[in-house]
Formats: sequence, structure tokens, C-alpha cells
Amino acid sequence: MATAVSVPSMDPNVARFVSRTHKNLINGKWVESESGESFATFNPATGEVLSNIAAGNSVDIDRAVKAARDAFENGPWSRMTAAERTKLIWKLADLLEKNLEEFAQLESLDNGKPLAVARAADVPLAVENFRYMAGWATKIEGNTIPLSVPYTPGAKYLAYTLREPIGVVGQIIPWNFPLLMAAWKLGPALTTGCTVVLKPAEQTPLTALRLGELIQEAGIPDGVVNIVTGLGEAAGAPLAAHPDVDKVAFTGSTEVGKLILQAAAGNLKKVSLELGGKSPNVVLDDADLDSAIAGAASAIFFNHGQCCCAGSRLYVEQKSFDKVVEGVAKAAEKINVGPGFNPGTQMGPLVSEEQLARVCGYLDVGVAEGAKAVTGGSRLGEKGYFVKPTVLVNTNEKMKVVQEEIFGPVVTAIPFRDADDLIPRANNSTYGLAAGVWTSDIKKAHSIAAKLRAGTVWINCYNIFDAALPFGGYKQSGWGREMGHEVLEQYTEVKAVCAAL
Ligand code: ADP
Repeated sequence: MATAVSVPSMDPNVARFVSRTHKNLINGKWVESESGESFATFNPATGEVLSNIAAGNSVDIDRAVKAARDAFENGPWSRMTAAERTKLIWKLADLLEKNLEEFAQLESLDNGKPLAVARAADVPLAVENFRYMAGWATKIEGNTIPLSVPYTPGAKYLAYTLREPIGVVGQIIPWNFPLLMAAWKLGPALTTGCTVVLKPAEQTPLTALRLGELIQEAGIPDGVVNIVTGLGEAAGAPLAAHPDVDKVAFTGSTEVGKLILQAAAGNLKKVSLELGGKSPNVVLDDADLDSAIAGAASAIFFNHGQCCCAGSRLYVEQKSFDKVVEGVAKAAEKINVGPGFNPGTQMGPLVSEEQLARVCGYLDVGVAEGAKAVTGGSRLGEKGYFVKPTVLVNTNEKMKVVQEEIFGPVVTAIPFRDADDLIPRANNSTYGLAAGVWTSDIKKAHSIAAKLRAGTVWINCYNIFDAALPFGGYKQSGWGREMGHEVLEQYTEVKAVCAAL
């Protein structure tokens, strides 16, 4: 049984939702997992049991895929106009907005993030993403193509392309932005007319399950979105491998991304991957240092460093190095770390005991490698999964803490001489998700941006997201893009039609 959680000002709907035993959504019905088993999720601020979740397995995945296939081929969804899809997705956005507070509270409890952040960022960004994607349904067009076929001289053709939904999509969601990552994936699937089996992260399934209720309330037909909760290997792996799934979209670690790719090979399903990062954040001497310092701190400490695009490698031009490091360390010390529900909390706990052990392990490795913590460097307190915001110096590109994704509030600071020194070092990573540049010289800003091998470059800002701005990685940070019109290509097939006249 889940323990009743007592947190100041908890919405009664949230308390009720959390203490339920949760089921899976398959073909419009909430059903128990085939095994009848469930697993517990934990409140990261206390380590106590938060909720009980259905432990889905390959049988549940198979049922959900069948429902999604049937909805794709035969259901009302397949006969609906694009404008009707727009209305339903927009309605879902409205319902989410109406229930913003409830979703923000669920997200904060489940993931540990500050309630204020979930209210201001996670939920509104999810709402906006659905609205942006709703508009695309009526604008997905093909082309007419002039043909000049050399071996049929004089013949005339009418040739055109259609963009058709790719089919049944498996979507595997991470725990760092549970609702938002589900919205990033559901939005394009719904607007293009696909059907979905969604598997939330086992640590943070609550907002996806509540979203499932809103999907029903919005009138999206049964079977279009199916939600199966479960562990990665038990439920995620059979979804990635399923022979009747046309595409799998995954956000998570690069390590698991490679497993997804292997699993997808069986039926050569299409794959999009949004994976890890070790993003360089570069401060030049001519930057407005106050903004750069605040920006560098927020680039790494936002969401407790649990962002795939976190600015985890801080490169500072030599002359400004000490000042910037001191500034970021001071900013780190001022961060109010505590339970996400406490008013005034700016940084919550890490999501799980496993992440706590992983991040603390990296801190130990860093020190053993010769790094020095200017501030932080250890766990905070004994209860919950808190880590002190940490700034490491005496680091270089050979160290594990500079090469590997820590996924916690830990930044490595490294000085550089000039652009020629910087670029190879900034690009010295297997990842290529994002980067930041802080300078008041417009020429330097754009020439450095051009040379950085990253899917997103922020100039004099960081962590700016918009549903219209594509996001994704170079190198081992992934395949394909989320958001913007780019994502639509990953949810559609192009059909060329050629008619002899
Ligand atoms: P992390 O290591 O940071 O917890 P993961 O990449 O393991 O992140 O998890 C992201 C998502 O991938 C979660 O929904 C998880 O259940 C799922 N997952 C984990 N392992 C597998 C796997 N072998 N196949 C498919 N999905 C998996």
C-alpha cells in the first residue's frame, strides 16, 4: 500500500490520485497488468513510498500494440479529418492548462523538482507544445513533382507526394521532465494521425497516467493513446522490439538508446533518439560577466543538473576564469536546496537513490582524478536524495567527470586561451546535444556557434525552449529532432504517386 503523503498545501485530487493503485490504459480502458503485479515509486524528498504502479510486461505491451494497430487501421481516428484532430489536441491542451496546479504538484512529488518550476515551466511548456502541434495537422503537405523520364519520351505524368502517418509508435519516456517529454512525443504523433503505446519512466509515471485520463476526457478515440507502465527491461524492451510497431521514439541515456536501436533492428522500425549530453558552456572575456555567471549557474543547476542539455562543462577565457568560477560557486551556495513542495525551494532532490549513488560516485571519482570542489562535492543531509550544487576545478578533458554525463548538479570549470584552443576542446566529446556562448562580440558569437558540433547553441542565454524550435543531438546525443516542424518528418512516411496522363 502507498503511504499517505502529508505535504503542505497538497491539492486533495493529488492526494487521492497518488494513493490509488494505478492501472494501464489499453484501448480506452484502465486495466490491471497481466501479471497482477505492481511496483512502488518513491518520494525523492523523503525516500518514502509514494505510489503503486502496474508492472506491465510483454503481454501488456502486446495488448496495447494490438489496440493501437486497430485504432490506426480501423477506428474513428483513421477516418477523422486533420481539422478534427487539431480540435482534439487543442482540447487536450486546454484541459491540461485547466488542471495546471494538479499536474505541477504531481510532477513535483514524483520527480522532486520545485513546485514553482513545475508550475512555471514543465506544465505550461507541455500545454504550448500540444497547441503548437495541434496547428500542424492541417498543414502537413506533399509536393507536385515535374517528371522528365528519359525512357518514355513524350509521355506525360502527374506526380505528387503525400505525407502519411507512420503508423503505430512506441514512445519511451524519461524521468527528468516526465510530463513535458510525454508531450514532446505525443504532440507530433497525434497531429500526424499516428497511434501510440507510451511507456513512462518507472520512477515518474504519475503525470502520464493523469494525462491519460485527460486524453479520454478530450474525446481522443479509444486505442489512439495506450499507456503501459513498467520497468525498462520488462516493458520498454518488448515495446522497442515489437514486430508490429512502426517507429520507436526514445529519450534517455545513450547506453539504453543503443539497446533500443538493437531491439528495433528486428523489423527495421524507424527510430528517433534523444540521448545524453555533456554540453560546453563557453564564457569569453568580453561577455557581460554578471549575466554569464548567472547563466552558467542556471545552465548546470536547473532541474538539479538532470537535463540532457545541462551546461556541465564550463569553459572560461583565461582572464575571467577566477571571477566566473567564484561567481558560479557563490550562486551555487545561495541555492535553496530542499523538498520540491517547500515554498522557496530552488533545487530539489535527485530523482532516485540510484541517481544519488551515481552522482556521488562521480564526485568521488573526480576527486580521485585530481579535481577540487570549490563548493559542494557531497550529498546533502541523510534523508532524501539531495546533493550539494558542486563546482569542480583542476579538471581536464582526460577525466571521467569531464567526459561522462553525470546528470546531477556538478559542473567542471576549465580555462581556455582563445578560439583556436577552445573549439577542439569544446568538441572533444562523444556527445553533441547543446552548447552555450557568452560574449558581447556578435562576430565571435556566430563564428563559435558555427564551429560547435551541437544540435542547439544558445548565445547569451541557456535552456531556452520553444515548441517551434527543434531540439536534438549531433554525434551520440541522438537521431532526429523533437519539436519544430522537423519532428513531423519522423512521424510521417512520404508516398510518391505517379499517374500516366
Ligand atoms: P536513466 O538511466 O537515466 O534512468 P534510462 O535511459 O535507463 O534512463 O531510462 C529512460 C527510459 O528508458 C525509461 O522509461 C526506462 O524504463 C526505459 N528503459 C530502460 N531500459 C530499457 C530497455 N532495455 N529497453 C527499453 N526501454 C528501457
